[in-house]
Amino acid sequence: MMGGHHAISGTAAWMALAGSAPVLGHAAGLDLWDLSPEHVIAGAVVATGAALLPDIDHPGATVSRSGGGLTKALTRVVSRAAGHRGATHTLLAVAAFTALAMVVDGLDWQVQVPVLGEVEAGAALLVTLMCALGTRALKVVEGPLLPWVVGLGSGVLVGVIAPDTSFWLPAAVAVGALTHLAGDLLTTDGIPFPTWPLTVRPPKHLASPLWQRSGDIAVPLLGNAGSAREWLLCTVLTGFAATTVIVTVAGAPGMLAV
Ligand SMILES: [Zn+2]
Repeated sequence: MMGGHHAISGTAAWMALAGSAPVLGHAAGLDLWDLSPEHVIAGAVVATGAALLPDIDHPGATVSRSGGGLTKALTRVVSRAAGHRGATHTLLAVAAFTALAMVVDGLDWQVQVPVLGEVEAGAALLVTLMCALGTRALKVVEGPLLPWVVGLGSGVLVGVIAPDTSFWLPAAVAVGALTHLAGDLLTTDGIPFPTWPLTVRPPKHLASPLWQRSGDIAVPLLGNAGSAREWLLCTVLTGFAATTVIVTVAGAPGMLAV
């Protein structure tokens, strides 16, 4: 799946799970965590960026090109160690991304910002990073610097208007990264066996495109990455994400006031 498509499916998945905005008279999300509209939107931003994280193993991916030399060097190390669609496309990696988010989010680190007052720096940092990734992948803003400026703005905003980030921020990282795995699972190449590094390989006569000799699995409903079916699915997801985000923002007076 392409970077922008991963990003928008991360947004849509988060809005479907955490959102509760009324669309056509029905709640358009499961409201799993009973979050305020501000938290839902901030989580959507984080899930969008986190949906790009597993592709840190690919030099051409948005996430690898986002942070200049630093992320390029990181990609070189990861792709050499794990190969593309290897270790970073597993449940273990999702758990690691989520644990890392919990550590950053849990930092007891408040920063005094002029005018805005005290800002939760851990949460702001996480939102800044994920927002910069997401806006770049979705081509909301372009160029080497602008996504980071937008990211920093969102990070500080969240640090001010939604300082209670106890669990929903890491949850958004988990949802985003899991959505990435689901997206790649739907393409021909598939993903490593879910319990990786414990891989179950099929006996020769049972090997198929769904369960490959390598142990990789796929449900290739979308065909090859970037296919017309992938575009169609992501157009629908974009419509869902945009509608639910707009309705949620409209229902959050605090956000509109800021
Ligand atoms: Zn991928």
